Amino acid sequence: MTSEQVLDIYRKTGALLTGHFLLSSGLHSEQYLQSALVLQEPDIATRLCAALAEHFKDERIEAVIAPALGGVFVSHETARALGVRALFAERVNGELTLRRGFIIKPGERVLVVEDVITTGKSTKETIRVVQQAGGVAIAAASLVDRSGGKADIGVPYKSLVTLNVPAYAPETCPLCKAGSSPVKPGSRGLK
Ligand SMILES: [Zn+2]
Repeated sequence: MTSEQVLDIYRKTGALLTGHFLLSSGLHSEQYLQSALVLQEPDIATRLCAALAEHFKDERIEAVIAPALGGVFVSHETARALGVRALFAERVNGELTLRRGFIIKPGERVLVVEDVITTGKSTKETIRVVQQAGGVAIAAASLVDRSGGKADIGVPYKSLVTLNVPAYAPETCPLCKAGSSPVKPGSRGLK
């Protein structure tokens, strides 16, 4: 699947929004990607994640993990394509944690996935969860890399699309300077 095909799916499902957004990383941006609108179509989720999984088919991956909530379906569908377990980590008092009886065995080869990577912060936190459990984070992957390839994940990393969408610190945001206020996508029920 080409980058353009993936972006086309984001556009057609209304998942590529334009405005002034406060991202979960704390940065501001003119563009917001709402992957839930893409992933709500199970067939599309299966196809996208199969394309992502293709990069790791020779890596002897034994489990896939994502940070909840955005990455859960990506974990599930990528794991389906690889024929392995799908786990997720979730926040407890702000810290990503393995719950629900999920176990990563010592030495287990784990792929860390996300829907969208902006700074790579939650991916890196998820890698730590894997390592603390004794697993080996073999690689990371996301449907979209919106860091323009600049996110430093610390393990080999693949995405289906790389977007170079500027994200601004609040102090330097040109949209704020122009007088508008950022919208937290969640406040409109988007995420
Ligand atoms: Zn702003």
